[in-house]
Amino acid sequence: MKLELGADSAPMTLRERFLTLAQELARETRAAGRSTFGVTIVGVSKKQSREKIVEAIDAGLTDIGENYYQEARKKFTRLPPVRKHFLGRVQTNKAKGIVSDFDMVQSVDRLETGRAIARAAREAGKAFPVLVQVNISPSERFGIAPSSADRLAQQLRDEGLIVDGVMAIGPITPDQSEIRRAFLLAAGAFSRVGGKTLSLGMSGDWRQAVACGSTMIRIGTALFGQRSTTKR
Ligand SMILES: *Cc1c(COP(=O)(O)O)cnc(C)c1O
Repeated sequence: MKLELGADSAPMTLRERFLTLAQELARETRAAGRSTFGVTIVGVSKKQSREKIVEAIDAGLTDIGENYYQEARKKFTRLPPVRKHFLGRVQTNKAKGIVSDFDMVQSVDRLETGRAIARAAREAGKAFPVLVQVNISPSERFGIAPSSADRLAQQLRDEGLIVDGVMAIGPITPDQSEIRRAFLLAAGAFSRVGGKTLSLGMSGDWRQAVACGSTMIRIGTALFGQRSTTKR
C-alpha cells in the first residue's frame, strides 16, 4: 500500500518508512553516544486507520499511542500483539476502560487523574504504569510545571501507581536552541522523578529529543502519513 506523500518526497510504503525511521533512530542514538536499544518508537495512530496500524505492526512496530479512548477502542479489536500507550486526557468515567485496554498512560498531570487510574487499576488487580506529563512549551495547554513533577510523582506512587518517568511535548518553533532548552527541562524533571522512560520527541523534533536523553519517541505523521481530518 502506498502512502500519500508530499510532492517533495519519494513515495514509500509504511513498512519502508518504519524501517527507515528505525535505521535513522539507531544512527542518531549512536551519534549521541547511547545504546541503540535504548530508544523505543511509539507509533501514534490517532486518526489513522486500523489497517495502517496492522501494517506497521507487521513491519516491526512494537508500541502504539492513541489520544482518544472511544476512537482507540474501536481500532483495538483483534490487533496483533502490541503495547498500547494512552496519550490523551483521561476522563474519570473512562479510567476503567483505559486501564483495561491500555498498558500505560503517559499523560498524567494532575493528582485527580492519577487517583481515577489508581482506583481502576486496584479494581482490576493490576500494577499500572504511568508517566508524569510536564509542560515545557508555551503553546502546550497540558502538563505540570517541571519543578512540581517529582512531588506529583510521589503522590501518584502513594496512590499505588508505578511512575515510570516523564512525558513532554516540545515547543512549536523552528528555533533549535529553544527546543533543546525545553527538552533539557524535561530531562531534568525525569532525573528527579526517576523511572526508566523519558517520552520525548515527535515527528518534527525526535532527533533533538534523542540527543537530550529521550528513551521513547512518539511518531505520528512521519510514520503513518497525514492524519484524517474527519471526526471519529
Ligand atoms: C499526536 C501526538 C504525537 C505525534 O505527533 P506527530 O507530530 O504526528 O509525530 C505525539 N505525542 C502526542 C502526545 C500526540 O498527541
